[in-house]
Amino acid sequence: MSDTDKLTAILDVLSGTAFESVDEMLGVYGGLGAPVDEIRNDLCAMVRERTIMWLLRRTTARNFNERTRIMTKRMAELLRIGDQQNGAFQSVVNQLVDLEARITDAENVEKNGTSDTPEASIRDLLKGQGWRCAACGIPLKSHVRRRMPRFAEELEPISEMQLDHVEPFYIAANQTRMEVLCKECNIVKSDRLGVQEDGFVFCANHLRPKNRASTIRRMAFWTTYKTRSCEHDECAATSKDGILLVGRKNLGVAWAYGNLSVWCDNHAPIRDSWYCHSFPDL
Ligand SMILES: [Zn+2]
Ligand SMILES: [Zn+2]
Repeated sequence: MSDTDKLTAILDVLSGTAFESVDEMLGVYGGLGAPVDEIRNDLCAMVRERTIMWLLRRTTARNFNERTRIMTKRMAELLRIGDQQNGAFQSVVNQLVDLEARITDAENVEKNGTSDTPEASIRDLLKGQGWRCAACGIPLKSHVRRRMPRFAEELEPISEMQLDHVEPFYIAANQTRMEVLCKECNIVKSDRLGVQEDGFVFCANHLRPKNRASTIRRMAFWTTYKTRSCEHDECAATSKDGILLVGRKNLGVAWAYGNLSVWCDNHAPIRDSWYCHSFPDL
């Protein structure tokens, strides 16, 4: 992008010009140096949730057959589908009926926590995760704590474990893959529903001066959650091996989503990188 193009693009962004297409928008952001793949993935996740919510309407249907009948009628109208015997159409209806049932379930059943899940299943999950939080790598059992001079007592801190539903509970109820997160990660993750409307996508609210520390923690969490491993070229360390640390890729640029990188203790710069729940008030 030439300097003139970049500046024109920034002026368009600043004035809130609507883009003709997603490709055009990503092209502009990409030309400015923004992490396009990350934005595209976030966009897809958000559009998926919005589309699901648009397709589904609450019904008072009490059983599967009634739900299927109502959903068939609604989808035929909404999507203007003539041939309702079409296999793909029926598959869409079935999936939506299943989703709707799970959403209704999510409102009426208790969310499974560690106490409703067999101990053996939790142990298997934990073992597969190296007895650590699946996202940030903090030890959940004291026997895996490693020496790390950057922490108090020169030992990794330890956290309480919580069972996490990988897909949001309000969409999937208890029928989803589970993983064990530390309490802090789980709290930040469930916050996602609350920020959906004002932009989980770009964590745009990092511009708001209010709650800046908590916003940075949220950006640090999502960056760690997606990566779960050290980003150093020759390193294979993951959250199973130790606590992951977050810092800025480019020290000259603000703490902003897209400018954060995740490293293991060996590769994190000594200063200016933090464990994602221990950010100072920057
Ligand atoms: Zn964690
Ligand atoms: Zn590393």
